[in-house]
Amino acid sequence: MTNRTPIIAGNWKMHNTLAESADLITALTKAGNKNHVEIIVAPSYTSLAKVAELAKGSEIQIAAQDVHWEDKGAFTSAVSPVQAKDAGAALTLIGHSERRSVFGDTDEILNKKVAAALRHGIKVIFCVGETLEEREAGKTLEVIESQLKNGLKDFTEEQLNGIIIAYEPVWAIGTGKTATPEQAQEVHANVRAYLAKAYSPAFAEATRILYGGSVKDSNVDEIMAKPDVDGALVGGQSLIADKFARIINFNK
Ligand code: PEP
Repeated sequence: MTNRTPIIAGNWKMHNTLAESADLITALTKAGNKNHVEIIVAPSYTSLAKVAELAKGSEIQIAAQDVHWEDKGAFTSAVSPVQAKDAGAALTLIGHSERRSVFGDTDEILNKKVAAALRHGIKVIFCVGETLEEREAGKTLEVIESQLKNGLKDFTEEQLNGIIIAYEPVWAIGTGKTATPEQAQEVHANVRAYLAKAYSPAFAEATRILYGGSVKDSNVDEIMAKPDVDGALVGGQSLIADKFARIINFNK
């Protein structure tokens, strides 16, 4: 038995007006939390401050979906870690597959973003995952290890203390295809083994590893039952209050 507190995180992506975000967070503050998990939501930047304000006094923590690597400057449209923190973000996603594939975030860029977040005391949810081609070529574990190695390059175990890893197979995000619990467990166990080798067994044992990719109210229980799955990062179903509430309150 481990004593890692599970995490259920929702990534709202580029969805929701201010009013829709306000309704959703208000509903989620009443969702209950029978498993005493950590609950995180990542609204889009336009809603972040409002959601943070409405979540105050609840157990829900607020994450940004991304941060820039500089604190300020001529980077039109980007948001710095200073601004994210000021708006109410205690955590940030970094390396979501949509950032990697749509916006071209490389391992090198992600490494600078991790540094920026840590510099400002923002907790990092670092996302990794393989494409379908990589899985079919038998390269899943190699790809994940390389993303971890390069994205987290040059940080000490002390600096990375509290980092959260999210394993999100690209082929399962927003597709309705979910990795089987066994596939998720295999990768999570390998991520943990990598962390033990690269840092220390104690660090690996303490680090939460989330699964993401079409997690639903109907499959969360079996995914959460796997020993190395410490939580879920949820896209689509985190936008629907009663579905996300069911995911938060998964059955053991
Ligand atoms: C995500 O965007 O992180 C995600 C896992 O999305 P979905 O749950 O919709 O697959």
